[in-house]
Amino acid sequence: MRILVSNDDGVYAPGIKSLASHLKEVAPVVVVAPDRDKSAVSHSLTIDMPVRVVPLEDGRYSVHGTPTDSVHLALTGVLDELPTMVVSGINAGANMGDDTLYSGTVAAAMEGCLLGLPAIAISLVGQKEADLIHYDTAARVAVTLVKKLMKNPLPKGLLLNVNVPDIPYEQLQGMKMTRLGQRHAAERPLVIIDPRGKPVYWMGPAGDEKDAGEGTDFFAVRNNCVSITPLQFDLTDHKALKDMASWI
Ligand code: MN
Repeated sequence: MRILVSNDDGVYAPGIKSLASHLKEVAPVVVVAPDRDKSAVSHSLTIDMPVRVVPLEDGRYSVHGTPTDSVHLALTGVLDELPTMVVSGINAGANMGDDTLYSGTVAAAMEGCLLGLPAIAISLVGQKEADLIHYDTAARVAVTLVKKLMKNPLPKGLLLNVNVPDIPYEQLQGMKMTRLGQRHAAERPLVIIDPRGKPVYWMGPAGDEKDAGEGTDFFAVRNNCVSITPLQFDLTDHKALKDMASWI
């Protein structure tokens, strides 16, 4: 048992530090993560230039690339001793509903999953990213889930997307298996006029909750529960596949 820890907030983010230090209680940990915040890069892989990987103190690695680059290179070339599980996070902010499509945190876990390892993506959910406090709550949840996975491994091709409310561990109201909810369309971008008079656009924040009823990730977290959504990388709409036979 050996755990690869990665993220999309960067190797110096508070979430990954908390996650790595807690997971060390369970198994040896190796950290390979982007050298800066690469949030919302989804599953991008750098193929138009070489990717530099810089060893830091304590055996951590800083990658001049994306979360997917980090996990991919860790598992295919950088590490001598291969990990047996990937845990990505703790992301500063929710990865619920449509967030999962943009998320580098989920992508890092997904890459582990694609390369055949059990994987968990874990995020801390509060009102504002800058005000998040309880990373240790999410880290303790990660420890619990990793221990469970050691006893009861997941089927291949499945990853757990975990969202934890930003509250003290003792105040958690349990764990819920959930489906992804859905958000309204993202808010409009901020338009700024550059020094030469041309407009530039700064992406607006994610939309508010739309499909957030009972059974969704949004609902669980709003009720102070840990939300666990099993995700797969097969995007095929299996129901439509049958229906489309007559359409074609
Ligand atoms: Mn992030």
